Amino acid sequence: MAMANTVAMRGTHRCPFCMSRVTMTVDGQDVYLGNAELRARAGDITYVAPSLLPHYIAAHDYKPPDEALHAFASATPTQPRPS
Ligand SMILES: [Zn+2]
Repeated sequence: MAMANTVAMRGTHRCPFCMSRVTMTVDGQDVYLGNAELRARAGDITYVAPSLLPHYIAAHDYKPPDEALHAFASATPTQPRPS
């Protein structure tokens, strides 16, 4: 089973493509994207992506490698931790 971590950063970043400040509803709460790094481990490989990844996929047609998508999609979330 893959495990995912969210490593929080100080401040937030706007999307560099559309300059939007992006939010996403998670468990009924609006959270800013662009302030963390997502990490998903699958086997011996750790995939790392900015927390804006869902926005890049939905709004800008970005397609990460299938292996990375599968790792993030099947990962068990862990509690965010500071960098
Ligand atoms: Zn954007």
